[in-house]
Amino acid sequence: MSQTTMDVPPDLADKRQLSDDEPFCFGCRPDLPCFTRCCANVNILLTPVDVLRLARRLEMSTTEFLDRHALIPITKDLRLPVVMLKMSDDESKRCSFVTEKGCGVYEDRPWSCRMYPVAMAVPPARAGVEPKPIHFLLEDDFCEGHGEPRKWAVNEWREDQDVARSEELEAGFREIVSHPWFIGGERRLDPKRLDMFFTACYDLDKFRAFVFESTFLERFDLEPGLVESLREDDDALLRFGFRWLKLALFGEPVLPMKDSARRTA
Ligand code: SF4
Ligand code: SF4
Repeated sequence: MSQTTMDVPPDLADKRQLSDDEPFCFGCRPDLPCFTRCCANVNILLTPVDVLRLARRLEMSTTEFLDRHALIPITKDLRLPVVMLKMSDDESKRCSFVTEKGCGVYEDRPWSCRMYPVAMAVPPARAGVEPKPIHFLLEDDFCEGHGEPRKWAVNEWREDQDVARSEELEAGFREIVSHPWFIGGERRLDPKRLDMFFTACYDLDKFRAFVFESTFLERFDLEPGLVESLREDDDALLRFGFRWLKLALFGEPVLPMKDSARRTA
């Protein structure tokens, strides 16, 4: 199905859409005069995996990371909260992680930084249609990488930038944000559910405390071994958070309740 500009975020509406095998020229090297120019005054959306990886890299909790390094813009058009990387407050508006040698968190840099100059949008849900991400080419004037001869297709670029693992981990996140519950764009989650979404997706340490320090485990019957994984394994907890949100936000029966909890419910 072809995609109309009405389906994409306004900031991508005038960008060139890239089909999977459409080639684009790009190269990024430290000896280009624009080196790190892209790391200032830029809107970088953070995915749940980005927040988690950066927090762990900086040896801080996700709560502290969000507090120190993230912005959560509130606009009436946003259906769900988004998280953006905070730039410095001074005139340079540079990313806190940029150094003279390039990105100071390179191995854990956000998805948007890895994929630049390719951007992605997930279209809103439509009845019976699985949303397929759409890719765009960002052709910023400041970036000289577009003059480089190497040709890429989107999938080659994705492979080169090693995004498959985080995208696989975030499959459940994409299912939430493009859930059929939102079809038509009229329905809104109440503040309590928005808070659940934010916690489970972005503030994983707070979500872990919710799972282990509330009555959660008394209420839900989890598969053998899962509780221990959730205690130790961030990736397992993130996957579980996306699963839990299907129940908490949309009432999908994805987590069985314990008999004792059902009797008192
Ligand atoms: S080529 Fe583009 S992406 Fe690479 S450093 Fe220059 S501005 Fe940034
Ligand atoms: S995280 Fe790294 S690549 Fe991304 S803007 Fe900051 S310094 Fe640049």
